[in-house]
Amino acid sequence: MGTGQGADYDVIIVGGGPAGLSAALLLGRCRRRVLVCDDGNPRNSASHASHGVFTRDGTHPSELLRLGREQLAPYGVDMWDVHVSDARGLGEGFEVMLEEGATLRCRRLLLATGVVDELPRVEGIVPLYGRSVWHCPYCDGWEAREQPLAAYGRGHEGVELALGLKTWTDDILLFTDGGKPPAREEQEVLRCEGVRWHTGRIARLEGTDGQLERVVLANGEAIPRRGLFFHTRPRQRSLLASKLGCTLTSKGAVKTRKLQDTGVPGLYVVGDAARDVQFVIVAAAEGARAALAINKSLRIEDCIGPNPSRDSPFAVPESTEVAESPRE
Ligand SMILES: Cc1cc2nc3c(=O)[nH]c(=O)nc-3n(C[C@H](O)[C@H](O)[C@H](O)COP(=O)(O)OP(=O)(O)OC[C@H]3O[C@@H](n4cnc5c(N)ncnc54)[C@H](O)[C@@H]3O)c2cc1C
Repeated sequence: MGTGQGADYDVIIVGGGPAGLSAALLLGRCRRRVLVCDDGNPRNSASHASHGVFTRDGTHPSELLRLGREQLAPYGVDMWDVHVSDARGLGEGFEVMLEEGATLRCRRLLLATGVVDELPRVEGIVPLYGRSVWHCPYCDGWEAREQPLAAYGRGHEGVELALGLKTWTDDILLFTDGGKPPAREEQEVLRCEGVRWHTGRIARLEGTDGQLERVVLANGEAIPRRGLFFHTRPRQRSLLASKLGCTLTSKGAVKTRKLQDTGVPGLYVVGDAARDVQFVIVAAAEGARAALAINKSLRIEDCIGPNPSRDSPFAVPESTEVAESPRE
């Protein structure tokens, strides 16, 4: 399949979120035969507005996706609403299995499959999530500014979250929900910053129409709060990357290199699924970076074959490892 004979597509993109759609846009403009497969489970489905997105601040997430899909139309990119159930490497290229039974071949595979967040197991949280309960202060802190806020988390991560909220308000309570109190040094810093903490178990969150009103502890005490941020460690939405031989970082992201390549020949991973800060704009940027790398590798393959020797002037330079960056 080196020069594309036998392949249904140059590139199959699994995942049609900001990362996948951004890659598809550039690859379409490079006149590549591209298929995007998406099964309709974006990470931010509970959100009502995407913030911090250049030129689109506050746009509804579904509207961003609609625009992203609309922009593909002139470039002949195929977009299928379908779940990709499996994929395997063929030596050169990949075979991609769709849930409906079809099997397709492609020369490059781009995974933009995103992640899933675990909500804290607290009664009453679900109707508030995305409206006044959030995980990302950079995404929604402005909306909660100068309000009495709760930080929910255990250990040092909970302490960091609580201190981080100081950017937006001075009234912060850290809830460990039965977890240990902060360590002595952490307590000193929290006191110095005016952040208080509760170690009691939370019975439930109460609110109306998506607006958090109070945190109710197991001992019956009700503490008024207008917003809650929790610490989350998201997990991969799809097992495809691991199945294809990728490794994960200690934080559960797929290890990628500078050009979003993975070390598995022809396989690229972008967006929240890969290491890096998890924002819409960053996911889209990673998609664009992978698209350039993929197009260049295909062009070289079309000119001189799939495996130029290392000392060939056309050899694709080895992409370098990028150090793990902290998740926000
Ligand atoms: C509540 C909430 C609010 C947020 N608010 C903001 C904000 O204000 N600003 C901001 O910048 N970021 C925000 N984020 C983060 C933002 O949602 C992500 O950074 C962004 O969606 C990442 O894009 P992505 O394309 O990597 O993944 P996603 O948007 O999650 O897209 C992945 C897509 O892949 C599909 N998929 C997965 N596996 C398969 C498969 N096997 N077959 C077919 N399709 C598959 C999924 O259905 C999904 O549509 C928020 C996140 C949450 C949870």
